[in-house]
Amino acid sequence: MIIVHKYGGSSVATTKKIVDIAKYLGSVKGAGNDVVVVVSAMGKTTDALIKLAHEITNDPSKREMDRLMSTGEQQTIALLSIALQSLGYDAISLTGVQAGIKTIGHHTKNTIESIDSDIIKKHLSEGKIVIVAGFQGVNRNGDVTTLGRGGSDTSAVALAAALGGKCEIYTDVDGIYSIDPRIYPNAKKMERISYEEMMELAFLGAGVMEPRAVELGGKYGVEIYVGKSLGEKNGTIITSKEKVMEKKLITGISINENILMVNIENIPTYAKNVYEIFKIAEEFGVSIGIISQNDVTSENGSIAFTAAKTDEAGLEKAIVKLKDKLKGIEVVVNKDVSKVSLVGIGMVSNIGIASRTFKVLSENDISFHQVSTSEISFSLVVDTNKAKEVAREYAKNGYNLYLASRQSEDLKDLANDIKIRSNVEVVLKEFDITKFETHSDFYNSLEPKPLGVIVAAGY
Ligand code: ASP
Ligand code: MG
Repeated sequence: MIIVHKYGGSSVATTKKIVDIAKYLGSVKGAGNDVVVVVSAMGKTTDALIKLAHEITNDPSKREMDRLMSTGEQQTIALLSIALQSLGYDAISLTGVQAGIKTIGHHTKNTIESIDSDIIKKHLSEGKIVIVAGFQGVNRNGDVTTLGRGGSDTSAVALAAALGGKCEIYTDVDGIYSIDPRIYPNAKKMERISYEEMMELAFLGAGVMEPRAVELGGKYGVEIYVGKSLGEKNGTIITSKEKVMEKKLITGISINENILMVNIENIPTYAKNVYEIFKIAEEFGVSIGIISQNDVTSENGSIAFTAAKTDEAGLEKAIVKLKDKLKGIEVVVNKDVSKVSLVGIGMVSNIGIASRTFKVLSENDISFHQVSTSEISFSLVVDTNKAKEVAREYAKNGYNLYLASRQSEDLKDLANDIKIRSNVEVVLKEFDITKFETHSDFYNSLEPKPLGVIVAAGY
């Protein structure tokens, strides 16, 4: 069996940690596996390299940034190989180029196009532990490329797919939680999560895994184990939804602080010029998140969108060009916003998600800037200083759903419907509703407080 391990920056932050990993890899190899290891740069090395370039200029060339950033991983592969060899194992380190990882796209944001797996297979057949630099590859010009921040996850999953192996990601968290335990201490670790839910969570900001890695895993059916400690397997497995037993309405809550919001007002001849806005944004490599608009007439309008904070330099240039092209527009950039998202397969066509979500906001008097939904997610853009509170409120409230009806038959039907449509467990409880004068008396008597009460006809 080929096993691809991946160790993130914090796991290889010191030579002591690297030696511990080498010992563990030796035992995995000793158990009869073919072992491929993908590593990140040590600790915060990538950040430090980026900072160096920014000491010189705000806007370094992307090609040279790829060259610079790719050196971080190269330190780690050499050190890990040295550690393995000093323990008596046969090991070889390979850069992305040497490992046959071909990429396409723009510098600093490349995607893997293909992997020539023969090179690694040859080394494996010679009994070596193969160590590959994560996050990097080579493009058609022969230039070193990188895959975007966090890209080593993608390298690992892509290698597992190409080699037909398993993938294990070792990181500084011991698994995937429904919400960041630092924000909500009662967070629960999941044993399994589906690719779809994990991807949504990752895209929406849960920093544990790179979304493209999860997407690749789903596409090629690579099960991905995410955990912390070496040896003991008590992390989370990302797998197909058929294999996820426990289906909940809400799987997770994430906060993405890497966003900013752009408001553009007074856009003349709206339809035509909105295209102009996003064309220019694309030109400067700005990735767009949620788009919302109001007051649209063909004559004049406004639009707002979120973009990645990391694209700020490109955005600034895009705005200059835009203002020059569309005279009279007003552009306001708000950097103090974050996106809070609820994710779960059970949300698909579920009744009342919107009402319950907004209820939490209204009860806590929290305003939001934008909202967007997908089949399995619900995202709100709020002020950054409110984001944790919002996430906590959602986590605390859980998603208890109360149904009420005079006719228990109505309820059974409705409960059944919800069960089928959203895979949530529905508990039927009987209340003597003659005791309650009003609907809110009934609501107030419920413990724990639900996010809402759905009242079936007849109540
Ligand atoms: N070293 C790169 C980064 O910090 C890639 C990675 O760690 O996945 O983004
Ligand atoms: Mg990472």
